[in-house]
Amino acid sequence: MLDRSPDSEPEIRSVLVLGGGSAGLLTGLTLKRLVPDLDVRLVHSSDIGVIGVGEGTTAVFPEHLFKTLGLDVGEFYRDAQPTWKQGIKFVWGPREHFFYDFEFQYDNRFDGLPKASGYYATDDCRDLSHACSLMERGKAFTSGPLGKPIIRGQHAFHIENENLVKTLTRHAESAGIGFLDDTLERVEHEGGRVTAIEFKGGERIEADLFIDASGFRAELIGKVLEEPFRSFSEGLFCDRAVIGGWEREDEPILAYTTAETMDHGWCWQIEHEHFINRGYVYASDFVDDDAALAEFLKRNPKVSNEPRVVRFRSGRYERNWVGNVVAVGNASGFVEPLEATALAQIIYEARWLAEGLRMSARRPDDTVRKFYNERIGTAWDEIRDFLAYHYKFNTRLDTPFWQHCREDVSLGDHAGLFEAYQELGPSQLLSEALPVRPNVYGIEGFLAMLVGMQVPYRARHEANAGERQLFEKARGRLARAAAAGVTVRQALDAIRKPTWQWS
Ligand SMILES: Cc1cc2nc3c(=O)[nH]c(=O)nc-3n(C[C@H](O)[C@H](O)[C@H](O)COP(=O)(O)OP(=O)(O)OC[C@H]3O[C@@H](n4cnc5c(N)ncnc54)[C@H](O)[C@@H]3O)c2cc1C
Repeated sequence: MLDRSPDSEPEIRSVLVLGGGSAGLLTGLTLKRLVPDLDVRLVHSSDIGVIGVGEGTTAVFPEHLFKTLGLDVGEFYRDAQPTWKQGIKFVWGPREHFFYDFEFQYDNRFDGLPKASGYYATDDCRDLSHACSLMERGKAFTSGPLGKPIIRGQHAFHIENENLVKTLTRHAESAGIGFLDDTLERVEHEGGRVTAIEFKGGERIEADLFIDASGFRAELIGKVLEEPFRSFSEGLFCDRAVIGGWEREDEPILAYTTAETMDHGWCWQIEHEHFINRGYVYASDFVDDDAALAEFLKRNPKVSNEPRVVRFRSGRYERNWVGNVVAVGNASGFVEPLEATALAQIIYEARWLAEGLRMSARRPDDTVRKFYNERIGTAWDEIRDFLAYHYKFNTRLDTPFWQHCREDVSLGDHAGLFEAYQELGPSQLLSEALPVRPNVYGIEGFLAMLVGMQVPYRARHEANAGERQLFEKARGRLARAAAAGVTVRQALDAIRKPTWQWS
């Protein structure tokens, strides 16, 4: 804890969270759990509602729910009905497809081999990790005694936004967070600090700290404090998505999100137990809404609900913590869901906010705010550059949109990493070229894109026969274990048996 005089900065006792989407709820719950003395209230507006999308997570999400927040695993599965996601299948670049998971594929070295797997995977990148072997075979988990799924390790979820919001709301209420359903009318502020918010129903709420979780409306950070917005348009050109889906028929439930190259962007497929959710993210400079919808429906003839278009801008606010306002979730910034990073970023924001409050004994000063803003800003910029890699090297289609991406996407702070890769290939030395460490994706993330899309490099390694044999043997072990694994359907049936116990 920092050494500071008790009255140097105002003590934060009360927090008002504006917004009851996943960002407001996760932040409220995290603050209540990690800084329990805080009095937390949350206001949401049923008239405005929540965005209703945001259904793929990364592996940090279950870890945060069950370890940091301490939610009961069985209860969460029962209420929120998630299915499992082991990674993303990219229908992208010259290969038929490749997988990016939460383990290590390319930045991993099988026993006895002198080089990392990335060097051996130029032609065939299958079976480099447990997760990628499972996904390749339509399986979710390896199986243990009596064919039971072994549910552990770095998996993520597919989860319907409505179920998630309802479940988190219940947990927030039982954690002692006070709820109000009302719409913001007027904000009182002075000298760059918010003092109170008045709501349409007549209530006026004062607080020491305000969390802006109002989604794209960014009511406090954007509209009241007018913090400048830093656009990511140099690397990310898409600005709309059309979303639709259908009730699952006999399609198997897949343990991965699919990201598929389209003429003017890409299309996701997210797997819920009873519903398949599809969305086409596109660039309105290259295609209008009607033509994008037509391309979407042609690719997805089963879409049965009314598709809706969501508009967005990619970027982030210059600072997310300004005075006594902290923006989280879509109010703090946004990138398209190509790596489903938004929920992970919310968790990162919430944890660092809690840490800033704890470290400053709830009296955060300019230094705490500066560190927070640098850390969160860097995390946003890293996601921006990681997504830029997806666009820059995708040679699958030759439409004007993809030509423009290959020519003009900026790799931002991670341009030097690509230069090093061109020279060295998928070397572990590349970590020296990362602009920030620790880095959320590590070398592994960037290599998954570069090797996955067969981007050439100079220092080729010609494996000898012995190395080839060891490599194939290791891959064979992973392939056999995966082939004997269980599907999502089998794993769901297993956890619903009365005899199932979560370890
Ligand atoms: C097309 C698309 C796909 C996405 N896919 C993913 C994905 O796969 N994975 C992922 O992690 N993320 C994804 N996201 C991001 C996703 O939206 C966020 O992860 C998440 O839902 C957080 O939303 P939020 O809570 O910030 O905003 P919202 O859900 O919009 O919530 C805002 C809250 O603020 C309240 N509010 C707003 N204004 C006022 C007001 N004036 N008065 C009172 N209350 C107010 C609203 O009522 C609501 O409760 C996607 C986003 C888009 C656009």
